[in-house]
Amino acid sequence: MIKLELRFLGDPILRKKARPVVNVNKKIKDILDSMVRVMAERDGVGLAGPQVGISKRIVVVDVGNGPIKLINPEIVKSVGSEIAVEGCLSIPGVFGEVRRASEVEVTALDENGRRVWIEGSGLLARALQHELDHLDGILFVDKVIRFVSPGEGSGEALEATNATHRESNTCATEREAEGKRDDAETENGVHGQS
Ligand SMILES: [Zn+2]
Repeated sequence: MIKLELRFLGDPILRKKARPVVNVNKKIKDILDSMVRVMAERDGVGLAGPQVGISKRIVVVDVGNGPIKLINPEIVKSVGSEIAVEGCLSIPGVFGEVRRASEVEVTALDENGRRVWIEGSGLLARALQHELDHLDGILFVDKVIRFVSPGEGSGEALEATNATHRESNTCATEREAEGKRDDAETENGVHGQS
């Protein structure tokens, strides 16, 4: 078991561009497993390598359908735009509205080195974009339109540190995203995932 410690705002590793994984080996698998554990312990919906001191292009995401582990992920398609509230495990207690694409398609390697494609909308799209930003040293606070107090509004707190907060707000945002996705589909003819 690999012991990983969360890194917080001010730690230079969070601002470094993470390096691609060259060999998908057992060590990378073990790191990903440990990242999933840290994410679950903190009730997060995503975690990127630099957040646990690993400057490699690896992320884990779990928006409630089980963990997704991605190696060298890249966004290959972005559709639409929507604003919602985010937080970050590396910046506890800070929340703000961020504009993100409403749907993304990401390609990556899985933990067995196989190429995968993931289409996400709503919270999954947002989590993927937030985590991939971490790999380039970009934090959500760089993109905040408006900071909000933790209890304010109906947006989800991405990577929230409190399960109750996350659950209550995730539902609201998914409903909200659902409505927006319908609009996006009409405009763009794109069908999001269910
Ligand atoms: Zn984050």
